[in-house]
Amino acid sequence: MSLLFPALHTASSHTALRFGDRALSYRRLAAVASGVAARLHTSAPVAVWATPTLETAVGVVAGLLAGVPVVPMNPKSGERELTHIVNDSAPGAVLTEPGAELPEALGSLLRTDVEIPAEGEEDESWPLPTEPNPETAALIVYTSGTTGPPKGVVLSRRAVASSLDALEDAWQWTADDVLVHGLPLFHVHGLILGVLGPLRRGGALRHLGRFSTEGVTRELASGGTMLFGVPTMYHRLADACASDPDLVRALAGARLLVSGSAALPLHDHDRLTAATGQRVIERYGMTETLMNTSVRPGGTSSPGTVGVPLRDVDLRLVDDAGQRLPAEDTETVGEVQVRGPNLFTEYLNRPDATAEAFDGGWFRTGDMATRDADGSVRLVGRKATDLIKSGGYKIGAGEIENVLLGHPAVAEAAVTGEPDDDLGERIVAWIVPASPQQPPLADELTDLVADQLAPHKRPREVRFLDALPRNDMGKIVKRELPGRQQ
Ligand code: ATP
Ligand code: MG
Repeated sequence: MSLLFPALHTASSHTALRFGDRALSYRRLAAVASGVAARLHTSAPVAVWATPTLETAVGVVAGLLAGVPVVPMNPKSGERELTHIVNDSAPGAVLTEPGAELPEALGSLLRTDVEIPAEGEEDESWPLPTEPNPETAALIVYTSGTTGPPKGVVLSRRAVASSLDALEDAWQWTADDVLVHGLPLFHVHGLILGVLGPLRRGGALRHLGRFSTEGVTRELASGGTMLFGVPTMYHRLADACASDPDLVRALAGARLLVSGSAALPLHDHDRLTAATGQRVIERYGMTETLMNTSVRPGGTSSPGTVGVPLRDVDLRLVDDAGQRLPAEDTETVGEVQVRGPNLFTEYLNRPDATAEAFDGGWFRTGDMATRDADGSVRLVGRKATDLIKSGGYKIGAGEIENVLLGHPAVAEAAVTGEPDDDLGERIVAWIVPASPQQPPLADELTDLVADQLAPHKRPREVRFLDALPRNDMGKIVKRELPGRQQ
């Protein structure tokens, strides 16, 4: 890797970024971002107030050009979380769009507004700074906080480049691709894959600002080739396909539909394929590892798997006794452990957590999986929250959730293990009914699971809710279900 973004050095008039009706070509992006970089007089990390705007994307590129670690900040975070991130990462400045009101937690930081002049009005052109060493920190990204307080993950330029290039290999991602998405810009998915991905390829991003099915139709029908989304977005698309032939046509015409960040329920896979003829490609990654596996377009991985390891990623499954499971074993659930150039450098200020996360060079993901005969990884859930130990069995919440979501009267489902004197843990299903007036019968749901899976996977209890607790990525936060330990 010599340059992180080769296309920025070409002065090309090809569109790099488009948010709504504002766009920047590679030439203008290089001019504007290098101008912002030149005004950043700090070698400390730089925070970016990560609203879903062109200014955020430019701010991140500016930080990367300046060679200082970029810390994307979730604008929806509360004061406490922001204060923690500011104290932890000690930024020297914050980049933001002009006019943004910043919360008190960022009040002590030097503010730099990212100004995007009108076409032809860039005041000067700045030389692009020399590329820093690939091992320097490119970004400090905080995890989604699904299982505990967010941890700051230090990602090198090498890790970012390596993971994006592995996706180029898996998806044949090129400069001709126009990526469409409406993801937030403070996590790996929306920012590293969704903004830095197209820029590394020399392709384009069209950001929806806010996700909407109409926006997806519009952008895919007018030149978009790829769509990135989280499962809640694909769920909404699947719903809308029933009554929107323009959306069906737009999705059917896309080159690649990619889902990640959480499991895409089988029911939604099936509905989208039935409506559009397309197979949604699932990929699996983490803040700490960037991308690990992906379904290959046209490959053998079946829906419900996250595909096979990406180029340069070593992946193994390890059982409770610390033994590596043989590749022929398609039954036993083990922890996913990975090794490769895509891995993070460390958890910021957490040498203890960093050391604990590794097993002799292998990163312990905390995700549990089996492996199909063709090598495709089948995630069953997280060790901490999704692996239920009941009556001597180890049961993955995910497969039960998949069955429940197949019931027409179920809109959302989560499955947990709750303490039980007799069983150790008892399986509890948390259900959001499709229609609150006509919730499904609890027995009907538990019978469905016992029939389709096995009797010991039958939920012992069904609890109905109006909505499941979810974070900004649409991930279900099980520790926030009513009455659970926080
Ligand atoms: P925290 O680490 O703070 O609890 P988090 O793990 O949700 O939060 P991220 O790093 O954003 O934070 O998410 C990584 C996790 O997301 C993975 O460990 C995995 O559990 C889940 N994940 C990502 N992609 C997929 C996928 N395609 N299918 C199922 N789960 C996925
Ligand atoms: Mg995690």
